[in-house]
Amino acid sequence: MRYAIVSDIHGNIEALRAVFERLSESDQLLCLGDVVGYGPNPNECVELVRARATACILGNHDVAAIDSYGVEFFNPAARDAIAWTQTVLSGENAAWLDGLAYELRMPDFLMVHGAPVTYFSYILDIEDAERAFAATDAPLVFVGHSHVAEWYGRAVDGQITHAHVQRGGSLGLVEGVRYIVNVGSVGQPRDLNPDASFAFYDSDSRTISWERTAYPIGLVQAKIEQAHLPQTLAKRLSAGR
Ligand code: ZN
Repeated sequence: MRYAIVSDIHGNIEALRAVFERLSESDQLLCLGDVVGYGPNPNECVELVRARATACILGNHDVAAIDSYGVEFFNPAARDAIAWTQTVLSGENAAWLDGLAYELRMPDFLMVHGAPVTYFSYILDIEDAERAFAATDAPLVFVGHSHVAEWYGRAVDGQITHAHVQRGGSLGLVEGVRYIVNVGSVGQPRDLNPDASFAFYDSDSRTISWERTAYPIGLVQAKIEQAHLPQTLAKRLSAGR
């Protein structure tokens, strides 16, 4: 079985379409949340994910779009974008987001937006990863949230290995080692590579591969301007941060 795993689409339909062009029909699509927020096409993104994904969980921006939960922790640009998203998001799409779960546990992996148990915590360094591994017994945890493609491995003796994969790359999973895999962000990468990020997980060969895909960033930036969303949200797309 090959899974295609996406996260943090953030209303960027051009980036999502570019990623979908890389998928095979037989791929099972998993989504780690933040389908909306920041970007100019929240409805289109929800509808594509609804139509294609095998499973999707909630991100903090999805929750904020539904009922403003957590917006007090958002920076001003994120808060403005959520207020705008609430004005355009259809009732049907909001209801679909509202029905999503905070986590999904499969036999061989766990899906959470930010971290196990404390769903919207960030895993930004080895200490965060240690806490995250301690909070779950899942052998493999897929996360997004930080918009940075990377992975952490925890050996049986507790030793943690870490690598960034912002140019793409692959990882063969070693028996006995547990992993936290950040698939990066489709719609607003922050690892200095502006190309859309996602990952494949081949459960037969036990291999993860991180992929990057170029998309028409200028088109999204023009839409952000037309929607009167904060300009910083347009600028950061071409910088990848
Ligand atoms: Zn996000």
